[in-house]
Amino acid sequence: MKQTKKKIEFDKKFYIKWMVIAMTAIWAAIAAVWLSMHNWDAEESMKAVARAFTEQPAETEQQAPAEEEAPVKDEQTATEETEQPETQPEEQPEEEAAPKDATVYPDIDQLPAEPTVVNGILLANKQHPLPETYAPGENAEARAAFDSMAQAAAEDGLQLVAFSTYRAFDRQKQLYEGYVAKDGQAAADRYSARPGFSEHQTGLAFDIGEAGQEQHWASASFGDTAGGKWVKENAHNYGFILRYPEGKEQITGYMHESWHFRYVGKEAATAIYKQNLTLEEYLGI
Ligand SMILES: [Zn+2]
Repeated sequence: MKQTKKKIEFDKKFYIKWMVIAMTAIWAAIAAVWLSMHNWDAEESMKAVARAFTEQPAETEQQAPAEEEAPVKDEQTATEETEQPETQPEEQPEEEAAPKDATVYPDIDQLPAEPTVVNGILLANKQHPLPETYAPGENAEARAAFDSMAQAAAEDGLQLVAFSTYRAFDRQKQLYEGYVAKDGQAAADRYSARPGFSEHQTGLAFDIGEAGQEQHWASASFGDTAGGKWVKENAHNYGFILRYPEGKEQITGYMHESWHFRYVGKEAATAIYKQNLTLEEYLGI
């Protein structure tokens, strides 16, 4: 009897002992799984335990990330839109937010009454035409700057000439119509401006070439000559920029013109040159 009672007691102790061990192991396993579910972050796991007992906050926590995704998407859209000219309202349909092609003339019935001036810089391109009556003549400051540049180039053995500067509205009209008759409007629009849209009407655009190198005047080949390279590298020191750089046709509206320079003043010209920008990009339009 004693022995049996002892055996039963022993068995009881044995079971309790193993029960405790088994329970501990199970809880340890549950804790491990729980921790692994929360990136092995003890603090996060404890918070999750707390949430598990107060179900409601847990749900709002789970909803939070989904709600956060929406503003991120909005931000991306906003970034894309800020690249477009100025403040476009978010409600605008996507088709209208498509990148603008600056080579395309706007659908307008008449030229504006005033020229466009941005941050003190006169702007004339296919999107910003000049009034028909705008006739300032060749800009004296630009001419003086060109003369200084030509003098510096002469010291390097290069005889620069400005073979075309100010062009009146009527003169541009005559030229453009001639080009259209010769090459058709689509081609003419790539290398010439419609009257009212030419930068030459501002009196600030200088077509530059070398004396005795007339075969390169108004030709892409000017960019490969010693004179063309010199002007491209030095023009900003005199306030001029290469107005229609290579690969920027969609921004400036015109194909690359190695000979067409625009006077904007030294400060703007240097910034534009150093940052490899177009006038449109520099002005943020
Ligand atoms: Zn020109």
